[in-house]
Amino acid sequence: MKISPVEQLFTIFNETALILQEELSCTYLEALAETGENIFHGSILQDEVSELNVKRLKKQYEEIHLDKFSKEEIRKAYQLVILKGMKENVQPNHQMTPDTVGLLIGYLVQKFMTKTAFRLLDPAVGTGNLLTTVLNQIPNQVESVGVEVDDVLIKLAYVNANLQEHPIQFFNQDSLEPLFIDPVDAVIADLPIGFYPNDVRAADYQLKADEGHSYSHHLFIEQSVRHTNDGGYLFFIIPNGLFESEQASKLREFFKEKAIIQGLLQLPVNMFKNKNAAKSILVLQKKGEGVQPPKQALLVDLPNLSSAVEMDKILRNIEKWVKQNKR
Ligand code: SAM
Repeated sequence: MKISPVEQLFTIFNETALILQEELSCTYLEALAETGENIFHGSILQDEVSELNVKRLKKQYEEIHLDKFSKEEIRKAYQLVILKGMKENVQPNHQMTPDTVGLLIGYLVQKFMTKTAFRLLDPAVGTGNLLTTVLNQIPNQVESVGVEVDDVLIKLAYVNANLQEHPIQFFNQDSLEPLFIDPVDAVIADLPIGFYPNDVRAADYQLKADEGHSYSHHLFIEQSVRHTNDGGYLFFIIPNGLFESEQASKLREFFKEKAIIQGLLQLPVNMFKNKNAAKSILVLQKKGEGVQPPKQALLVDLPNLSSAVEMDKILRNIEKWVKQNKR
């Protein structure tokens, strides 16, 4: 039986990560980042590995030639090994963005971003899966920046970018602390949802809570808008209840001043564990001179994403909306 390129890569990532996990006494995800680095550099970078295992690793690495694989094959195989590692232990807020959502965001980015070259920021870049799913879909020349607070995830993201040959600039920091980056034309983010524990930092934001901890997803929206050029677009994966929480009035006020709601696309509830965990895609445009609101915001209830016929219909409707409304 012929194995697919993705399976072939998966097997090598997995088997070599298992060897390194044991040698380095680390987690599977840490070992995966290490093996990815080795594959990218074409050498074994860890001094601790025994002679026998150096031989075993070399043999496996010699079997793959990354240039024979497409970026999407590499991304998918890497995503599968990360998913395997995340099954061991991962907080819900650290989960990778699923492909179906990444593909939709990529589609929207392509429809809204008409410039041939632009700057793109993902302030919650995680493993880089969402960012590279988008980059692999769009023909534009993109200079991208990823920020992530978790040091294992950012290492996975940086290895992911190297293996797929995407020149992404990464920052390992809290995105709600000052960001030293040039303004961007677009933002994508699968927002971390919940309370932000640093009240002192939150005090710098218009969207801080009057009492107690602020919502990190609100602060992320404000921080992203701050770093976007006037007229730039922002694509967020948000909880469905965003406009219903007790803090929603502040958010509405903020949007009135700073951003236009271009679209709200509700993802199918069956993609999530329960109704309360369901999410939507929010498309914003930063206000600025000459920036006009759409005649009507794009409001979509997405069908089951696995139904090709229904998806096709929805994508055609989105396309029609973009033609009629995008100014
Ligand atoms: N799109 C990512 C991917 O494909 O892997 C997944 C994003 S995940 C839903 C949200 C991410 O936000 C997590 O990786 C989490 O570590 C990160 N995060 C949470 N709080 C943060 C903060 N204050 N600054 C930077 N990153 C943060």
